[in-house]
Amino acid sequence: MYDEDDLLPVSALMHLVYCARRCALIHIERLWDENRFTAQGRQLHERSHEQDAETRVDLRAVRGLRVHSLRLGLWGQADVVEFGRLPPDSTGGCELEGLSGRWQPFPVEHKRGREKPDLSDEAQLCAQALCLEEMLGVAVPEGAIFYHQPRRRHPVEFTGGLRRETETLAARLHELLRAGVTPPAQYERKCRSCSLLDLCLPQTAGQRRSAKRYLASALASAAAVSAQPETRDPGPATAVDGGGPP
Ligand code: SF4
Repeated sequence: MYDEDDLLPVSALMHLVYCARRCALIHIERLWDENRFTAQGRQLHERSHEQDAETRVDLRAVRGLRVHSLRLGLWGQADVVEFGRLPPDSTGGCELEGLSGRWQPFPVEHKRGREKPDLSDEAQLCAQALCLEEMLGVAVPEGAIFYHQPRRRHPVEFTGGLRRETETLAARLHELLRAGVTPPAQYERKCRSCSLLDLCLPQTAGQRRSAKRYLASALASAAAVSAQPETRDPGPATAVDGGGPP
């Protein structure tokens, strides 16, 4: 069990699946650079949190619900958790304040773009489900990801395999951030759409260097050069004026 002070953001799992270095650059070195894709994603999440809750006869949708798990050491904010009313004789689900009956939580995450080839979106959603299970003491067997290109709901079953994968990722995330060492860059096709490409410099900054230290040393070198007194003998004015490049 983790302390509340040790909780890490669920969203970091997504970065870890994409690239461990990206995760470290954001969460260890505190670097972030927004590109067109991340800006669209952020606006989408902000819009999905605009309304707090909406209740229909058999459905209560809660937006921006904060969730956490002390077992996994994670916290997050679920875009939408839909609570579906269960049949009157059901003993499953949970109770909701101010509403009669029992309700089954169903997390829905909104994503810009289309389904990804890796498990990043599913792991993030599964982590939210595991948080809800711990907080509400209720089984959450499935949820969905709503992709906006094309607009479609992708159902996700929280299988034993996905749960184990998510738990392993959460443990790896804690190890990575506890160690505090940014993994070396490895240039791959995915780097081209990474918003941190210009800060990470996977092709030019040196495979084992921290991007932050690289930037700091580059800035220090530039400052040292500009602060240096001019030592070259300028020579006679006529020679400089008419001599061309050295
Ligand atoms: S540019 Fe490539 S190596 Fe660097 S953080 Fe992004 S995905 Fe990882």
